[in-house]
Amino acid sequence: MARARQPRKVDILGVQFSVIQSTKKMPDATDHGETVVVERRIYLNPTVNKTPDDMASTFLHEVIHAILGVSGQDSLIKEDHEEGLVTALEHGLYPLIKQGVFMPAKPTTRRGAKKDGKS
Ligand SMILES: [Zn+2]
Repeated sequence: MARARQPRKVDILGVQFSVIQSTKKMPDATDHGETVVVERRIYLNPTVNKTPDDMASTFLHEVIHAILGVSGQDSLIKEDHEEGLVTALEHGLYPLIKQGVFMPAKPTTRRGAKKDGKS
């Protein structure tokens, strides 16, 4: 069972979602996760997501569903198409996020640099 590392709340396009990690509270206990946009809830299943990577990847998946739901884009696509799209984005983005490729570069401090940051 993956340990809870995801936040309890997450802001999705200005809408606060509760993140619930509980197999008992899952609408379907066999699902990895579930997003209920109208309730502003993201469910993550700690029984099915057996590793921290599984849990984090599922969290990303559910966040993408929430983004599509809050933005209204989910109404433009059929449910099974949304699932395929979200799954593709999850599998494509999660390894890149894990590698940190989207993290901004840290400011470097060089020896001898002037206080104003110019050299
Ligand atoms: Zn999904």
